[in-house]
Amino acid sequence: MIIIMKPKASSEAVSKIKNLIESNGLQVHLSEGTEVTIVGVVGDKSKLQGVNMELMEGVDKILPVTETYKLVNKKFHPDDTVITIGNAKIGAGHLTMMAGPCAIENHDMLIETAYAVKKAGAQFLRGGAYKPRTSPYAFQGLEEEGLKFMKEAREATGLNIVCEVTSLKSLETAVKYVDMIQIGARNMQNFELLKEAGKAGIPVLLKRGLSATIDEWLNSAEYIASEGNTNIVLCERGIRTYETATRNTLDISAVPVIRSKSHLPIIIDPSHATGVRAYIEPISKAAIAVGADGLIVEVHPCPSCALSDGPQSLTFDQFENLVSELKPYAKLAGRTLNE
Ligand code: PEP
Ligand code: MN
Repeated sequence: MIIIMKPKASSEAVSKIKNLIESNGLQVHLSEGTEVTIVGVVGDKSKLQGVNMELMEGVDKILPVTETYKLVNKKFHPDDTVITIGNAKIGAGHLTMMAGPCAIENHDMLIETAYAVKKAGAQFLRGGAYKPRTSPYAFQGLEEEGLKFMKEAREATGLNIVCEVTSLKSLETAVKYVDMIQIGARNMQNFELLKEAGKAGIPVLLKRGLSATIDEWLNSAEYIASEGNTNIVLCERGIRTYETATRNTLDISAVPVIRSKSHLPIIIDPSHATGVRAYIEPISKAAIAVGADGLIVEVHPCPSCALSDGPQSLTFDQFENLVSELKPYAKLAGRTLNE
């Protein structure tokens, strides 16, 4: 439930409510907006049976929160969350571009890609060091060696770096190198990994599971938040449907749905959503028009030589062209491209 305080309720009134809830063994999440303070209650509500807060000083109304996710719920925190990583802001009017290869294949291709995406206007370099491949015989990633190349790319270009982790062990290693960890579609409901990502305190890019509902996705975000980490960016990357013309089916409506249910930023991955290079640009335009906070795009120096996801990867020139094509769309949608 949430307790909505009256406008201008005193901080003593808020503290009294907070102490009362905590003394009954529940947790409090305070959202101090410009107008009102909202006191969110997390935990077993039955512990508050017989406690009447309705008439306490400063209380306007008490509303139930029926969703199982609380900390990531918009009712708990009506203002949109803005996440700052390095010099990039994700959310609230900014448009963040993340780009890079599906997998880090070697030192030179990564550094070359980093310079190219930086020049085109990206703020984040993406690249997989631990690859969750369908076949165990496919390239599995360079692991820690790849992370070292990512760190070098960050030092060379100033880009923030984001890498997927697929296990507790890879999480432990990755936090030493990256600015943001990615939890991929296949691990969206790896609850142990989500909890550890929450404890690690590092910003998390949480991709939607292949067959996950929005409710399940937000509950996964709640796992991370429940460990004290609300620096979470959601990523819609397409879901499984009966359609085979594209690799997945982009659920574009996920953007307004998430906006109405959560305060977390949401970005779109047109690469994994479509699996087809030619569709990246129109889908990216749609993503901006619908209000996404950013894009994550696969870019490779030689897509036809790529060890993974070549058909959906853009060349450097194509990525540069994409960014300039998107600028007027971003302006129309009231977003500015991060510098
Ligand atoms: C990726 O971003 O490299 C990836 C594997 O994405 P997803 O988890 O969305 O399939
Ligand atoms: Mn990929």
